[in-house]
Amino acid sequence: MTYKKPTTAAEKEAAREASQQITAELMEQITGCVNVLAEKLAQGASEELLTFMRFSARFHAYSGNNQMLIWMQAPEARYVAGFQEWKRQGRSVKKGAKAVRVLAPVTAPDRDAQPGPDGRHPLKVVGFRYVSVFADHDTDGEPLPGDDFMTVQGGDEQTRDLLHGLSSAAHVPVEWVTAEDRSAHGWTDGGAIYLNRPRCEAQPAHAVRVLFHEWAHVVLHFQSAGKRAEDAPDRQTRELEADAAAYVLSSVHGIEAAAQVADYLTTWGGNPEKLRASLGRIGRAVSQIMKSLEQQAAQRQPMPQAAD
Ligand SMILES: [Zn+2]
Repeated sequence: MTYKKPTTAAEKEAAREASQQITAELMEQITGCVNVLAEKLAQGASEELLTFMRFSARFHAYSGNNQMLIWMQAPEARYVAGFQEWKRQGRSVKKGAKAVRVLAPVTAPDRDAQPGPDGRHPLKVVGFRYVSVFADHDTDGEPLPGDDFMTVQGGDEQTRDLLHGLSSAAHVPVEWVTAEDRSAHGWTDGGAIYLNRPRCEAQPAHAVRVLFHEWAHVVLHFQSAGKRAEDAPDRQTRELEADAAAYVLSSVHGIEAAAQVADYLTTWGGNPEKLRASLGRIGRAVSQIMKSLEQQAAQRQPMPQAAD
């Protein structure tokens, strides 16, 4: 498709309207996608949601809305970036490539807020506009970074190494305790993560899942040590969110996650609003934990960034 830059006032107005139309359509698609996922859950089918959650982990730096848009338009994508960003990465977008449309916030000074030390008002989001990005499979050039570094190559020993790495990347201390009388495999008070030795030590893959689960609780449901976050949902929803985040993070690291999460997920009961709120929180947990892990990895080796 050839693109002609609008020059006259009428052309500019038409371009603006067309852009608004596309943005509104993208918003509708997101709502439609959440509704479909919620409907399926109500029928007891969680496979599609799990697929989406695994996919979303790759794009954890993006908003939940954009993860959904990328998933719907390019389910095979491993990376997306704008045309120029791909160029900077030494790759070019193939002829005839299909643009993936995502939403970018439009900001304006917030006149109701206190100006900063520079006398300027802070910015607030006043709307969205669509921008085009391209999936890695629609580009050619320099080889793409592999994501094998995250995958456990098998064996308990490697999994123990992974567990060790994760423990040191966590922003709260991870401690092993022996509590034979407790049925819990792990727990947290928001200030530290405890792994119950008798229930976790023999199975490192299980310990990794437990660690991710507790870590997600710390990120999402606590303000500080011993203090529950004000917006923390009810207990069942908290468990479900921590489990879903642990599922995503484990599968990113090549660890089979328990099917239990599927049973939990169906208890969302087809309520799209609740699902959307939880997906937002799960995404936040995954994104923060992945960021901690990437920061740790960056100290050991430079991490290429293909995404904008
Ligand atoms: Zn829990």
